[in-house]
Amino acid sequence: MTANPIQGSCLCGQVAFEADPVLNMYLYCFCSRCRKKSGSAHSANLFLDRKHFRWLTGEDKITTYELPDVARLANCFCSTCGSRMPRIMDELVSIPAGSLDKDPAVMPDKCIHWDSHAGWLPSRERLPKVAET
Ligand SMILES: [Zn+2]
Ligand SMILES: [Zn+2]
Repeated sequence: MTANPIQGSCLCGQVAFEADPVLNMYLYCFCSRCRKKSGSAHSANLFLDRKHFRWLTGEDKITTYELPDVARLANCFCSTCGSRMPRIMDELVSIPAGSLDKDPAVMPDKCIHWDSHAGWLPSRERLPKVAET
């Protein structure tokens, strides 16, 4: 337990977790499978050692979909609201950045599978910025 853990939760609030802010890496992945499971242009996942991660509540609400024949692409989500949730892979945990409750104050290390990025991925700099709609 550290003084300033990273905390996250799902949309309905039934699942919550925390982790020590000791990241191994933070990646955006632009592969087609991450587009499918994230429903967006890319996944954004923080990775850290298992020993730094703790479920606070709702671990029993997690549903895991294992993609046949692909070891590293399971999709873990809250079985009530469908929010993507952390995935434990032996000694490593991946945490979807969008599930965090506060800004973790870290920036991604790199974009992986960039060659597979969606053609419809816009340059954010070129889009108008609107506070709320
Ligand atoms: Zn939920
Ligand atoms: Zn991917």
